Amino acid sequence: MVRFAVQPARQLELRKNHVSALRVVLGDQLSRRLTALSDCAPGDVVLMAEALGECTYVPHHPQKIALVLSAMRHFAAELEAEGINVRYVRLDDPANTQTLAGEIRRAVSELGLKEVIATEGSEYRVREDIAAVPGIEIRADERFCTPPGFFARWARGKTTLRMEFFYREMRRLHGILMEGDNPAGAKWNFDAENRKRLPKTVRPPAPKRFPPDEITHEVLALVAARFSGHYGALKGFDYPVTARDAAAGFKDFIAHRLAGFGDWQDAMAASTPFMFHSLVSAPLNLGLLDPLILCREAEAAYQDGRVKLNAAEGFIRQILGWREFVNGIYWLHMPDYASKNALGATRALPAFYWTGRTRMRCMADAIGQTLKHAYAHHIQRLMITGNFALLAALHPDQVDEWYLAVYADAYQWVEMPNTRGMALHADGGIVGSKPYAASGAYINRMSDYCGGCHYDVGDAVGERGCPFNALYWDFIARHEALFEHNPRMAMPLRGWRAMAPVKQSALRSRAATILHKVEQGGDDL
Ligand SMILES: Cc1cc2nc3c(=O)[nH]c(=O)nc-3n(C[C@H](O)[C@H](O)[C@H](O)COP(=O)(O)OP(=O)(O)OC[C@H]3O[C@@H](n4cnc5c(N)ncnc54)[C@H](O)[C@@H]3O)c2cc1C
Ligand code: SF4
Repeated sequence: MVRFAVQPARQLELRKNHVSALRVVLGDQLSRRLTALSDCAPGDVVLMAEALGECTYVPHHPQKIALVLSAMRHFAAELEAEGINVRYVRLDDPANTQTLAGEIRRAVSELGLKEVIATEGSEYRVREDIAAVPGIEIRADERFCTPPGFFARWARGKTTLRMEFFYREMRRLHGILMEGDNPAGAKWNFDAENRKRLPKTVRPPAPKRFPPDEITHEVLALVAARFSGHYGALKGFDYPVTARDAAAGFKDFIAHRLAGFGDWQDAMAASTPFMFHSLVSAPLNLGLLDPLILCREAEAAYQDGRVKLNAAEGFIRQILGWREFVNGIYWLHMPDYASKNALGATRALPAFYWTGRTRMRCMADAIGQTLKHAYAHHIQRLMITGNFALLAALHPDQVDEWYLAVYADAYQWVEMPNTRGMALHADGGIVGSKPYAASGAYINRMSDYCGGCHYDVGDAVGERGCPFNALYWDFIARHEALFEHNPRMAMPLRGWRAMAPVKQSALRSRAATILHKVEQGGDDL
């Protein structure tokens, strides 16, 4: 069962002196700071299990499965190198029950240990499963910047929760980018400076990548054999799988790309998948990086004059603000959140989400790079694939499943508030005060996609008219009554109402044609 090099004599000697405990480490808990490991003593056994159920509850991208399994195996090897006794259950172990709870029960019964200690799972489903194991001690997950209980206290009594105000609390709490009681640069948020289009002359430096080592090669072979039916390429896998490599990747970001992160945070460019983004989400969500350290290093880069304030603040806001906020929202609203569908969206996800085969260049590029790298940056997720799903009224369950499956960083706690909340507005405004709906004009402003597209971004109603245009106005018209009460939707509503009826009906008729194509599977789009 344990396949890594260990020192059996030393372990036997240690076991004699201690009432042993089973310490559970889940696949996204690969951190020495984990509360379940904090008092790990000689004689304790750490349980890590690869479970088929976790690999298949949605059809995860093969690179995502490879990343988690390889990072788990590396982490287990590091614990063993410290002299810790690890019971590591591989996916292809014939005795594997293939569920996390099943493996905890089996370990308890086979090892006869008295105590079982775990850190709460990051996802509702996992937390419920593990809590059902008799006698298990569940500890808080302290790997976030938000202290346990802080978010619920902050949220208490508020009618609406907005990230911006929570973020300010977090800045104050941790003293990040603060000058006394005031924010550095006299402003909390420099977003207005961070919406530039990428000039043709600027080429974002390539991120540092990490070619597979022996452990990863073994995992890649396993994933190729067991999950070949899942969408996405395995070839080209080069994610960091250890804390050390993840830190090197982040250092490279600070040195070469953070300076451009602010200005071009919202920009998109064809065949430029990573832009100036950090690529830290996948290792961060696994536990290989500490979010507060990332924020402090970005702050130090600003303080040393290596980057401008809008870059450092923009980056820190994503982690100290958005990442912490969506985690708080998820736990405040689960399990009800998972069934929210405030806009009554019902259409099935068209096939091109899984293949990238569509004539809409922006969609083909965002989905194509997703299949290739298990990665798309935020604006692609929100304003391309998410925007299309919102405008075309795709069912939140199917959209959720897609986002959870295709991204290497996807875990329900962070994926769902972003998808159901921010992108689809299916939560009725819990995460965002208005839907992030946009026509082709926005995509054209922020990218170079439209120039080479089959569709004409300047047209809305013709056969080659950009689908985002007609769908956008149709979306506004469909939800006119609902948006009436939202001051942030007043402008588009005024625009719709000011239109001549003949134009309105041409737009709605073009939208009906597009939506019919979506219902037919989208092959013709
Ligand atoms: C529809 C949709 C689904 C998403 N699903 C996920 C997901 O499953 N997992 C995930 O980690 N992020 C998700 N995000 C947030 C964001 O898109 C990714 O974190 C980001 O693109 C990861 O790339 P990066 O590390 O290069 O990020 P950067 O742009 O470099 O940002 C730095 C870090 O900030 C954090 N961050 C930024 N935006 C958000 C956000 N909105 N919510 C939470 N954290 C944020 C991430 O940890 C990210 O690594 C989603 C966003 C949308 C719109
Ligand atoms: S024209 Fe429309 S579909 Fe084509 S790239 Fe631009 S926004 Fe996307």
